[in-house]
Amino acid sequence: MPVLHAAILALIMQSPDSGVTALRAARLLDPKTGAITTNAVVVVQSGVIKAAGAGVAIPSGATIVDLGAVTLLPGLIDCHTHLLQNYKGAYGGDDPNMALTVATLGTTRRVLLGVAMGRQDLEAGITTVRDVGNSGGGGDVALRDAIADGWVTGPRIIASTRALSAAGGQFGTLAPEAQPLIQQEYVVVSGVEEARRAVRQAFYDGADLIKVIVNTGPRVLSLDEMKVIVDEAHRVGKRVAAHATSDSATRIAALAGVNSVEHGYTISDDALRMMAAKGIYLVPTDYPAAFYVDALAPTGLSAAEHDRELAGAREFEAHSRDRLTRAIKLGVRIAFGSDEYYDVPGRTRGQASLLPLEAYQNDGMSPLDVIRAATVNAADLIGWGDRLGVIEAGKRADIIAVDGDPLKDVRALERARFVMKDGVVIRNDVAGSQRR
Ligand SMILES: [Zn+2]
Repeated sequence: MPVLHAAILALIMQSPDSGVTALRAARLLDPKTGAITTNAVVVVQSGVIKAAGAGVAIPSGATIVDLGAVTLLPGLIDCHTHLLQNYKGAYGGDDPNMALTVATLGTTRRVLLGVAMGRQDLEAGITTVRDVGNSGGGGDVALRDAIADGWVTGPRIIASTRALSAAGGQFGTLAPEAQPLIQQEYVVVSGVEEARRAVRQAFYDGADLIKVIVNTGPRVLSLDEMKVIVDEAHRVGKRVAAHATSDSATRIAALAGVNSVEHGYTISDDALRMMAAKGIYLVPTDYPAAFYVDALAPTGLSAAEHDRELAGAREFEAHSRDRLTRAIKLGVRIAFGSDEYYDVPGRTRGQASLLPLEAYQNDGMSPLDVIRAATVNAADLIGWGDRLGVIEAGKRADIIAVDGDPLKDVRALERARFVMKDGVVIRNDVAGSQRR
């Protein structure tokens, strides 16, 4: 039997008439310019966009997918996710969930969990993710490669392997006997030589980028450690994503010249100016306030407890809004990241992961800027700006279709009805769509 490369085999199996596909749609959005093309045609072959625009000729013999009155957009890119975690609110927050996940699932089962979470992301229109740690020992790399090789269907993954961190990683209190669990999830570094070694080890383990936890509780990496991490990664053309939530941590991350500050709940104006000058992205992992209470708070709250939770979430939301508004005003570029890793009742992982887009819009970003954060900006941040983020000739054929007008309300993105990744149709719920 001839040996077929897995990716080719997958392509043949998923699209039996594996030639040219032409998508037809009422509208096509270019996130770069904000321009809408009406009566759009997108011609796709071998996973790549060959032509896109109005009046593009459809090659004879092409399979035509007529999507009707939808808007086509590039596949969405989530720059901050954790596919190999799915915490339960009922277990009581991050600390018990992390201990349980690492101690009871192990990497093998977490990879299988990642298959399910990735599939849900993809079906919601998230065609690429940057998976930033909490993946056990090499689970993210295994899943990335399995998807790339066509063993399983999922989003394209940019993987970090284990995050670098100060002592303890992001675990809550662990007894001394249980502390070996930490190294399954984090590489603890202390001093510049350990930091340097950890970066090289991550690349040996298959990392596409480095994720570093600048602050975790009162434990904060030093500027010298951060500079070595950034230098060591940049020297070989790789990027650094920095979890930083406090004033001192965001300042250290900006000074060290990381590529993105993740969360950045508290950032002073001068650190934001530094980020703007150095082209450092902010990845705001913000959610609408009600989400924290309705989806994640313990069940069975009294009315008074519910109101107290909601008031706390609203205060946090106002704080996050203030720093996002200042960041944009000072010229910091924004890329979308969900930081979704909880089982959210009533929503798939993908549906829950799109809620931050709504939060950005609530915070005053224009719908077009929100869409840019999840397409062109995200593609640029992950180093795929030449292949992803817009629908134009030469780019990978990652395309979604939505009803309604996403330039009026980004919540339209929460209802993708057609998803294509690498030229393969993942879902198509558009009534009356024809394949010929
Ligand atoms: Zn995270």
